Amino acid sequence: MVSINPPVIDGHIDTALEILRQPRKFSERSKIGHCDLPRMKEANVQAALFAIESGYTLESLIKSIDIWFKFVSNPENKLFQIKTIDDFDKIKDSGQVGALLHFEGVSGMDEELKLLRLGYHLGLRSMGITWSNVNKFATGVRVTTKRQRKTGLKDLGKNLVREAQALGITIDVSHLNDQSFWDLYEITDKPIIATHSNARSICDHPRNLTDDQIKAIHEKHGTIGINFGMKFLDPKHPGEEYTNLGYDVVKKHMDHIVGLADINTVAIGSDYDGTSIPNCLRDCTKLPVLWEYLLENGYSEQDINKISHQNLLRVFKDTW
Ligand SMILES: [Zn+2]
Repeated sequence: MVSINPPVIDGHIDTALEILRQPRKFSERSKIGHCDLPRMKEANVQAALFAIESGYTLESLIKSIDIWFKFVSNPENKLFQIKTIDDFDKIKDSGQVGALLHFEGVSGMDEELKLLRLGYHLGLRSMGITWSNVNKFATGVRVTTKRQRKTGLKDLGKNLVREAQALGITIDVSHLNDQSFWDLYEITDKPIIATHSNARSICDHPRNLTDDQIKAIHEKHGTIGINFGMKFLDPKHPGEEYTNLGYDVVKKHMDHIVGLADINTVAIGSDYDGTSIPNCLRDCTKLPVLWEYLLENGYSEQDINKISHQNLLRVFKDTW
């Protein structure tokens, strides 16, 4: 019997694009994929950052934005685009799920940042600078040469971050390489989030955060969304996919972040519909079971509310 079912704001799902790759109806409960409207309602997911990829060109970024709006504005899908903090209240008990427009990397963005400003008017409220690749703004974790490993945030990237933060767009550091992370840390005066990254000292994967990075996000009053992807969770087999991981592994990452920082630095960014997930969290309906596990293993109801939604909400309030 599950005794706790707090509201959830998920920091990262790829459902808006994944649903086209493996066609299914978002409005109907499906046996495939990780998220749809009935399952999100069951898990009390009130809102999520529905990510889109940028691709490498302005054209591909515009194409992704168009797909996103077709998906979110389809009345069958009962999605409500979140653009303000008040919108989170509006969707409570509305039967709808809140959708935040999130760019997972902006490789296709123009150098003059016209699409950044237009994006803001379209409701862009959160973005990463690169999806693991090297682009004109920053360097991601998937680098192929030694020289790239040392490149960080470029001047164009610094302008991008400053202008985005001035507009009221939250900056996401997941997928950045270490040098880009630290360059960004130097120039940000607002909280930053890692929407879907874990602790590298638990699972040694470059997509995860070092202890110093976790402390730095805490120092900036940001937060970290725990990623449910097996390859980012597994302490024994980093980068590999063992489906039989338990909730204890998720908690291990949370405990580590709480130990280095505090409970305000832990959120969730499931990566549902974007990566391979262990059986115990096989779709979003498993979230209440995770909350129950945490409740039975040292986390208070107040802690769990912070993890499930309050910490991300706080950062949005501080950055929008
Ligand atoms: Zn990602």
